Amino acid sequence: MSQIPDWQGEAASVCVWCGYDLDQAKRPFGRAICGRCGTGTTDPIPDQASLNAAYGAWYWPEKGQRFSLVGDALLRRSRAAMADRIDEAAPPGAILDVGAGEGTLIDALKEKGRKASGLERESDHPDIKNQAINEVEGQFAGVVFWHSLEHMGNPRECVLEASRLLIPGGVLIIAVPNNGSFQAAAFGDGWLHLDLPRHLVHLTSKSLTTGLEESGFRIGPVSGTKAGQVVIGWLDGLVGKLPGGLDLYQSLRRKSARRIEISPGKRAAAIATGVILFPVALACAVVEIAARRSGSVYVEAHRV
Ligand SMILES: [Zn+2]
Repeated sequence: MSQIPDWQGEAASVCVWCGYDLDQAKRPFGRAICGRCGTGTTDPIPDQASLNAAYGAWYWPEKGQRFSLVGDALLRRSRAAMADRIDEAAPPGAILDVGAGEGTLIDALKEKGRKASGLERESDHPDIKNQAINEVEGQFAGVVFWHSLEHMGNPRECVLEASRLLIPGGVLIIAVPNNGSFQAAAFGDGWLHLDLPRHLVHLTSKSLTTGLEESGFRIGPVSGTKAGQVVIGWLDGLVGKLPGGLDLYQSLRRKSARRIEISPGKRAAAIATGVILFPVALACAVVEIAARRSGSVYVEAHRV
């Protein structure tokens, strides 16, 4: 469980997902919950200086290696599986990865013979541009927001821009944390995937699919497992609930990729506790997935 973050900015006045007035909204720590669609808007809306501080050098360390042990290799393998799925779901044509990170998904798609490019703030990757989606031209068979839509201050506009870029029948693929999940309820303000103030919108499975329908998309497969991050959400929360102030997620990152300093002893204790609690976290994950209240949601939506 993470320390309470702090940031500056203007108060959120309308829901960033549906535009509804937030005057009467419930306001748990750091967010305003829309009375119409149930989506959370980060409140206050962090200003640029706060975002720069929040993304600091630790978030994307040099050479892109974030996780210790086998974490980075697993990340690459899951991107390869993702590329297979996108290739199946999209009609022939190019794929745009919005929030492409280090470009692992783009590389995996190109290995399959797909034309692919991406958008990201800073990147040396030849197929990634530092652009906003509303500056992109061309036509695409698929647009992917893989754990990136929640980082956008204008998520609905991003979805409408995706619609502009997609050919009829083209697929929009979104993976985000599910704020309607059991783990979101269990851990509240300390939930790993709240990730304040980097996450600017806090969707639920329901508000996501409803908003996509309102934006002219036909909802395809929805999954509580494909977006990943479900077991770690439970495990980090369970470890953080124990006395001792252990932070599992930060402990799993390489030293240069940690937001906070952790002593070797506390790191070892966090990881050992994580190993012990892993079966419990797995069981919780199985239950919430079966109840369709998984910690993350993946949706494929087709442009009508
Ligand atoms: Zn709303």
